[in-house]
Amino acid sequence: MTDTLTVINPATEEVLATLPAAGAREVDAAVVRAGAAFSGWRSLAPADRARLLRRFAERVEADVDHLAALETANVGKPIAESRDDVAMVAEVLHFYAGAVDKLRGATVPVAGGIDCTFKEPLGVVGAIVPWNFPLAITSWKVGPALAAGNTVVVKPAELTPLTALRLAELALEAGIPPGVLEVVPGTGPVAGARLVGHPGVAKVSFTGSTRVGRQVMAGASATIQRVSLELGGKSANVVFADADLDRAAAAAPGAVFANAGQDCCARSRILVQRSVLDDFLVLLGAAVDAWRVGDPTDPATQMGPLVSAERLGVVAGYLGAGMGDPGGGPIVPALQGAVPDGPGWWFPPTVVAPAEPEWRLVRDEIFGPVVAVLPFEDEEDAVRLANDTPYGLAGSIWTRDVGRAFRVARALEVGNLSINSNGSVRVQTSFGGMKQSGFGRELGLEALDGYTEVKNVFVATEP
Ligand code: NAD
Repeated sequence: MTDTLTVINPATEEVLATLPAAGAREVDAAVVRAGAAFSGWRSLAPADRARLLRRFAERVEADVDHLAALETANVGKPIAESRDDVAMVAEVLHFYAGAVDKLRGATVPVAGGIDCTFKEPLGVVGAIVPWNFPLAITSWKVGPALAAGNTVVVKPAELTPLTALRLAELALEAGIPPGVLEVVPGTGPVAGARLVGHPGVAKVSFTGSTRVGRQVMAGASATIQRVSLELGGKSANVVFADADLDRAAAAAPGAVFANAGQDCCARSRILVQRSVLDDFLVLLGAAVDAWRVGDPTDPATQMGPLVSAERLGVVAGYLGAGMGDPGGGPIVPALQGAVPDGPGWWFPPTVVAPAEPEWRLVRDEIFGPVVAVLPFEDEEDAVRLANDTPYGLAGSIWTRDVGRAFRVARALEVGNLSINSNGSVRVQTSFGGMKQSGFGRELGLEALDGYTEVKNVFVATEP
């Protein structure tokens, strides 16, 4: 061990824990343990592997109070959200438990014999997880990877390792054999980087920034390691004049201020048809005023602090000088909520309207509770503006015209869209990005494809 991780509560700035940080040696040892567990885990009868995953899900459900409190203390997210995240972990594990004995290959018509395919597990999977949804995103990788017969080494974010460590304990309590799920808390450049291109790690499933995603992709080439990348986003919430404006405006704060905006799917650009811009802003103002920011342990709280002092500095900087306004001065928000006094890394829910497409605040993924509102003229203009970003993760379309809804949905270059809703993630459906938001899919049955390799076997039947 070469270093320590200091884990801090972002709402109080109190130290929650100090942990030894895994170095290269500890990562290697975890990979060896996961490699040793692989053949036993993959050759379990499917019904037995499914039963263990179900028991794991039940242990998570029984531990909800503890897991949710730990997540809230470590990330600063409201306790109601943390409880939802724990429920999602259990749902993910139940879903993939149900998929274990449904992983089928195919028989393929060919001449001279029988050709069939098998979906084989890859081996040891490295799962690199960010700090914004430590529990949920860990489960998105662990659930399908284990279901398909792989073993997993999780590298949680250095800021938020506590709940992943607890998940590993619960897996053992559920009877999942040692080595099948390893967790190595450590820094990205040391522990994370060690998994990338590691000869004992068949695939790295990475969620995090596009910047680090590039490094992962490059490093993986050393061993032709498989990678999937779930990266950043700058998602658009497109509101047409014929939409139910009350619903669209009431839902907009939740779509960007949930988790204090630290959400890869945050609808951080609201595109509003110009003819209803003023009406929409009045409704949005009322919704932002009603948004409850404060103590994340209070069940009524909708938004807590940012995860770190460093993040607070970055987010605050986007309203500073040089962010693109014509005069070169600071960008002045149209609307801004209030934050609690005292300790904690608080930033208020902030609306900038109207914003200009070339402003940095409009182009960069801020990853904080800041939303830019931009007017558009017509459908073509809306599609052009929405696609005017290197990212392609998610988006929303608000309209009562079903033809337009589907036309625009087909034209937007993103992996996940909602019509008259802002939800992006459902356990049963695939999730992932286009363009520089990455590739590969999590959740749904599609995620299993990312943790299996198709093996083709031909049997000659002719003499
Ligand atoms: P980050 O890229 O800094 O870190 C993500 C993870 O990678 C952490 O565990 C970190 O320790 C590790 N890491 C850092 N450097 C590494 C390296 N050189 N090699 C290997 N691993 C390394 O991202 P973050 O700041 O933790 O998270 C925020 C980002 O994650 C945002 O860009 C957000 O959009 C993205 N994100 C995407 C999704 C999605 O599903 N698309 C979901 C959540 C977050």
